[in-house]
Amino acid sequence: MSLLEVTHLSRHYGDFIAVENISFSLQAGELLALIGPNGAGKSTTFNMIGGQLAVTRGQVLLEGKPITNLAPRRIWKKGVGRTFQIAATFGSFTVAQNVQNALLSHHGRSYSFWQTADRLYRDQADALLEQVGMRGQADRHCSELAYGDVKRVELAMALASEPRLLLMDEPTAGMAPQERQELMALTRDIARARNTGVLFTEHSMDVVFGFADRILVLARGQLIAQGTPQDIRQDPQVQQVYFGT
Ligand code: ADP
Ligand code: MG
Repeated sequence: MSLLEVTHLSRHYGDFIAVENISFSLQAGELLALIGPNGAGKSTTFNMIGGQLAVTRGQVLLEGKPITNLAPRRIWKKGVGRTFQIAATFGSFTVAQNVQNALLSHHGRSYSFWQTADRLYRDQADALLEQVGMRGQADRHCSELAYGDVKRVELAMALASEPRLLLMDEPTAGMAPQERQELMALTRDIARARNTGVLFTEHSMDVVFGFADRILVLARGQLIAQGTPQDIRQDPQVQQVYFGT
């Protein structure tokens, strides 16, 4: 059984078709890239899977069970984690406190920084920070961190909910090329180690072709190709959309 199965997914805005009839699957431990020109429907697809946007038609199955049109929090509870393009950490709190709060939230405790003055979930936070290479910076404030390190903390926060599937919306936006490669290598290692599936959007073709196991190509709301990086490189329709040849 696939980890994620998307069938005939569509989103319309009145007469405007943002996403039309797309179907794909994603396996546990796999990195799947969703690419396409601006306006192709990438964010729309993400938001339908995550529950932030209502589905017009079609179905989303997680481990065989429908999650279509459930509230975002319920989808998150069922194992779909997210990172966002805009950094979601609280700068005036420490790295550990941010991750402790993600753990508190996952365990249904109220989301309050007061509780993290003590060591509640501190050991678990340290373990997650170890996984993303940030253990040594646990007591620094997030506002002091380099941008690439903030992204690592966000990844640790997303992992706090033990997601089966991780949705990453342009995870490397605003990062230097070296930092991008490092973050994606880390994401891949974590996905493999935890058997977590990753769906990500990405503009840098270096990152896409370097790290994706498979690639989905959207253009004007339609899925025009899907396959391995090698398949996609050679696909005439993809070349036309990207290079106009
Ligand atoms: P991408 O993330 O690939 O750049 P989006 O999924 O954000 O593309 O958008 C797909 C299309 O849907 C775009 O043409 C966009 O203008 C349109 N769209 C997005 N949100 C709305 C909305 N609230 N109302 C109408 N059209 C929208
Ligand atoms: Mg987008």
